[in-house]
Amino acid sequence: MQIERTRIEGYEEVVYGEDPESGLKAFIAIHDTTLGPAIGGCRMWPYADRDAALSDVLRLARSMTYKAAIARLPLGGGKAVIIGDPHKDKTEALMEAFGDFVQGLEGRYITAEEVGIWPDDVETISRRTRYVTGRPRRGGDPTPLAAWGVYCGIRAAVRHKLELSSMAGLSVAVQGLGHVGHKLCRYLHDAGAELIVADKDPEVAAKVAAQFRAEIVAPDAIYSADADVFAPCAMGDVLTDETIPALSASIVAGSANNQLARRELGMELVKRGILYAPDYVISAGGLMKVAEEVVYPGDFDQERLQGRVEGIGLTLTRIFREADREGIDTTTVADRIAMDRLEMAKAA
Ligand code: NAD
Repeated sequence: MQIERTRIEGYEEVVYGEDPESGLKAFIAIHDTTLGPAIGGCRMWPYADRDAALSDVLRLARSMTYKAAIARLPLGGGKAVIIGDPHKDKTEALMEAFGDFVQGLEGRYITAEEVGIWPDDVETISRRTRYVTGRPRRGGDPTPLAAWGVYCGIRAAVRHKLELSSMAGLSVAVQGLGHVGHKLCRYLHDAGAELIVADKDPEVAAKVAAQFRAEIVAPDAIYSADADVFAPCAMGDVLTDETIPALSASIVAGSANNQLARRELGMELVKRGILYAPDYVISAGGLMKVAEEVVYPGDFDQERLQGRVEGIGLTLTRIFREADREGIDTTTVADRIAMDRLEMAKAA
């Protein structure tokens, strides 16, 4: 495998690996290991070019540092991306080569699943590296808890913004019905919420709609769907100068990473009276699950984990209150809390 190291300011280590035999082309970015080894899933996506993959891995790795810090985990932030179409280009040899790439970093980065990497792939990767977590055969699938954390976060946002303690009768527009979005739909449906759903795969949308008696809308129409909550659970960059004015919901709360196309758009949401649950706070349930294997090996405690995930609602409530009090956006408050934890760890 050919390895290239790139120096990027603000990042501890950025590595590109290419293996001509298996076709692997991947980046691993380690943002910050102040709190512990960098953890973060591996995304496989048909990036237009290497630069697009690099810019995605950098943003994703950075938000993992904040996600782990705000979740009070003794872990740092990192991420991997593989350039390729997961439906066409993925092979066992490619997953094994990725495992070798991760192993070569000797534990400074711990990988897991993400968009385009399914549970079976995690098993294949684990043939070649110890530094992988969330293995399904060890009960490690993080997506049920990722979805449960988002559900707890939506409940907290509804309590704060709409002063309601029940989801019954409220409508939620869910964008993206994959591993997390689908499970979130189940929790919302069971709590009595009405669902409006969109997925770029029409078959997936039809299946989920039938299961939960949901209304299907076209992917572009989900922003303006007449809903109380908009839950982005597909890809990032969905809150833009164009989509924000179209939003009908007064709450945005979903699992997708990097939802704000530009950081300043957080304030635009405030001006429009839209409560935003910062993505890296609300989506931390999956990280909490995979971290359990790393932080407490051999000592899995469902109650401790469940308590942590449900704590996402409390953390968000604190963030919402502070943001209201100071008239600032919720991401600024979340960043401040995460930064304080990092600074304290550095000073200790
Ligand atoms: P997934 O690949 O299983 O599902 C994504 C779904 O979104 C797919 O069904 C896809 O067809 C759909 N989609 C993509 N673009 C779309 C668009 N423009 N409009 C409508 N639908 C679209 O991914 P996942 O694991 O469910 O993750 C979803 C999001 O949550 C990602 O942003 C991921 O980074 C984030 N996240 C995932 C986890 C986890 O544990 N998997 C944890 C935290 C955050």
